[in-house]
This record gives sequence, structure tokens and C-alpha cells, in this order.
Amino acid sequence: MREDFLQSLQHELGSDVFFGADIPARFHNDWAGLEPVVPLALVRARSTEQVSATLRLCDRFRVPVVPQGGLTGLAGGARPIENGIALSLDRMNGIDEIDPVMATMTVQAGTPLSVIQAAAEEAGLFFGLDLGARDSCVIGGNLSTNAGGNRVIRFGMAREQVLGLEVVLPDGTIVRSLNKMLKNNAGYDLKQLFIGSEGTLGVITRAVLRLQAKPAALATAFCGCPDFPAMLELLKSARLRMGSALMSFEVMWPSFYDFMTGNLPDLRRAFSEPHGIYVLIEASGRHADENRAMLEQILSDTLEEGWVSNAILPSSERETRDLWAVRESVSEYGRLMGPQTAFDVGLPTSAAGQVVSEIEAAIKSRWPDAIALSYGHIGDSNLHLVCNIPSAGETQPHKEITELVFDAIRQAGGTISAEHGIGLQKKPYLKLSRTPEELALMERIKRAIDPNNILNTGKVLSN
Ligand code: FAD
Repeated sequence: MREDFLQSLQHELGSDVFFGADIPARFHNDWAGLEPVVPLALVRARSTEQVSATLRLCDRFRVPVVPQGGLTGLAGGARPIENGIALSLDRMNGIDEIDPVMATMTVQAGTPLSVIQAAAEEAGLFFGLDLGARDSCVIGGNLSTNAGGNRVIRFGMAREQVLGLEVVLPDGTIVRSLNKMLKNNAGYDLKQLFIGSEGTLGVITRAVLRLQAKPAALATAFCGCPDFPAMLELLKSARLRMGSALMSFEVMWPSFYDFMTGNLPDLRRAFSEPHGIYVLIEASGRHADENRAMLEQILSDTLEEGWVSNAILPSSERETRDLWAVRESVSEYGRLMGPQTAFDVGLPTSAAGQVVSEIEAAIKSRWPDAIALSYGHIGDSNLHLVCNIPSAGETQPHKEITELVFDAIRQAGGTISAEHGIGLQKKPYLKLSRTPEELALMERIKRAIDPNNILNTGKVLSN
């Protein structure tokens, strides 16, 4: 049976299928840091038809398939399954069309996010999705995880920036739904089933993305606030007074800011004195001067009100990059800390200050040498927390830390995943954020679309 399957795969895919030692090691894992797995075979598809042929065969022979994009996912969703196929979209890389009248871009699923951003800007437009992994992640992965990132406060999550999709179903059926219209209420909005379902319902092969007017100017401010409640006042003020000009509101607790600036010599501390909490604000506008003046006025008022203790408005691109570099240094904490337990949780914004204090204190009281770093897209109620216990070496108490954190999040009425998804790592805890009825409905949808359970088998849901 297995030999028949492998021969058929080879026959259909020719040199685009790889076996054993010919599978490059980077396809053995994603960035979640779980144990690598060598798949039965790797398919690097060049076309939707090849994706369809692969799925049709896998469905016939009941072989699990793991779709892979840029492999930057942090929940283990793209990690291969033993005795399954890894299906990489990395060769389906390219922009089919930019339509300046509709303000849309049609792209193949393996196109890196940074390439899409650059192409939109070259056309005088703008793609609103942005995240630290922009050079490595690809749009198929971004949509499958319903990625968030730095500009959600302005443009929403990935699902709000898509108008159409081309998807291949587990039985190989190609569903072309490359809608470009803003309004299309003809029946169910099928694309939303596939966005955020982490490759468990279909393989995304193309997308029609919604583009925005290119901001003529972006301005950044970096603030030190006395404490969390003061930072919330700054957030309220920025929201009310900046309206749609508010592009980012990123928060770093001293635990994160001090650790990163203390351990990475290239990062510069913005202030000589310490603060209770740090905020990066990004504003967009039609004119650079107006933009800066608006930020200056807000900062001057909030300084006077005591919500901000010190602020910097950089005057060069270099200074702006230096300020963002601290927030973007998240890709380095793995190297600095070693094995870690990382969280991407959502919770009511007003509760986040109290929850972070309680979690950091509880971790330190249980493991006195613990390093716990907190930061996040707080403007979107999204908190990231990373924890390492140096004395535990390679055997980190992941389960105990996870239970401690998720218990606090559950009590605060939050969610165990704000943007990274469930994948493998968060699967045992999905029930903390979903009701039994919601879970049962998810299982019914999965069974209806993938009755043989071949797509990303065992990820997200219980089967
Ligand atoms: P992969 O890791 O390859 O796959 C992710 C999931 O999607 C898997 O379940 C996979 O099976 C599925 N999948 C991939 N391609 C397809 C497809 N074509 N069809 C169907 N299913 C598919 N995430 C955020 O949301 N916000 C952030 O701010 C953010 N910052 C990050 C910063 C860093 C430094 C890093 C390393 C990661 C960050 N992430 C962030 C997480 C990650 O980058 C996102 O989840 C990203 O969207 C994953 O894209 P990818 O192409 O790497 O997908």
C-alpha cells in the first residue's frame, strides 16, 4: 500500500517530490521549537494542479498531509507528521496581478509577506499586514493562521484584508473564489472557513488581498509611562485623538525592555532613567509635518497630565529604526534565553497590567531564578509572555508554567491564543477558551470537509 502510494506520488510529481536524506532539514520543523520530524516525503508544489494531485492521492491512500508556508509559525502547526507528507508552497511564489482601481493584489500562497508589502508600495498602495517575521513568513501561512501583528489596531487581522481565495480541498477539488469586490453577499463567505483554520480544512493556493492608500508619512513616538494605568490613559487618548491615524500601539514591560537592551549590545536604551512601562506609537497621515505635530501635541498633553513621564519623537529614519529594533528583537530571545515557554494570549486590555504582575510574581515565587518577559500588541488586547528557568536547563517545566499562565488568563476572561493559533502546542488547552458546543461544531465542520482526516491530522482539534 505504502509502496503503491509512493510510486503514484513520484509518478504525479516527478522531481518535485523528495524522500529521506533529500528532504532539506528546514522542512522537518517550524519555529515552535518542538522535536523535528522527518516526513515520509516532501512535495514542493509549483502549481495549484500539483497541490490538487497531491491531496487527491493522499486522500485515496489516507496519508496525512501537513501544509507548509514560511515555517515561522509558533504553535507547531507546520511541523510534519511521521508517515505523512509535508506539502510546501514555497515554490508558488509570485504576484499575479495588482489592480489599482479595485485596490487589490492577487498573489500565490508562497509569496513572502515582505515581497507583497514592497510590491504594494511600488504600486503606490499599501498592504496593512505587518509582523516581525515578514521576510520569512508567506501569505498562505499568514492567512491560515489569521496573523495579527503590528497594525491590527488600524487594519484588523489578516482575515479583514482578504477578498478572495483559491483553495484545494482534501479530496483535491479546486475551489476558485478569487473575488475582488468589496461587497459580495452571494451566499456563505467561504473564504473565512479557511482563514485561521491552520491548514486543517484546505490548502490555500492563491489570495486576493485588499490594499489601502499608501500613508504619505509615518511617524513614531517612544514613551516611558509611570505605570500600566497611566499607559491605558495614553492609549485612550491616542485612540480618540488620532482615529484612523493610529497604526500601532506596542507595549513593553520593563522585564522585556531591560532584558533585551541589557543582553543585545546593538540595542540602545532610549532613556537614561527607568520607567514603569514603555510604549511605541506609530501614526500615519497625508503630511509628515501634520503627523508629527499631532503626535507632539498628544505627547505634550499626556506629559502634562502625568500619563507619560518621558517621550522621544525621532528625527531620522535611523533613530526610528533603533526604537523599533528593541520591539523587533523578539526573534533573538530564543538564542539569548535557551529553551523557553512562550505565550500569545488575549485578554481584556484593562486587566492586562494586573495579570502580568500576578503571573510574573507567581512564576518568580515558584522558580526564583526564572526569567519572565512581557510585551505585546496591547492596543489589540494581545499579550506575549516568554519564560525560561535557567536552573531547569533543557527540561523546562513547560506544563506547569503553561497551566499557571492559562489559569490566570482564563480567570481574567481571556483567550489562550490571540494570533499564533493552536497548532499542536496549544491543542490540549483549546477547551479553556471554547465552549463544548463551539468545539463540537468545529469537529463537525472538519468531518464534513475532510472526512478521511488527512489535512494536518491531529492539529488544532482532538482527532
Ligand atoms: P507556517 O509556519 O509555515 O504555517 C503556519 C500554519 O499554517 C500551519 O498550521 C500550516 O500547516 C498552515 N499553512 C501554511 N501554509 C498554508 C497554506 N498555503 N494553506 C493552508 N495551510 C497552510 N504571528 C502573528 O500573528 N503576529 C506577529 O506579530 C508575529 N510575529 C512573529 C515574529 C517572529 C520573529 C516570529 C518567528 C513569528 C511571529 N509570528 C507572528 C508567528 C508567525 O510568523 C505567523 O503565525 C505567520 O503567519 C506564519 O506564517 P508562515 O508562512 O511561516 O506559516
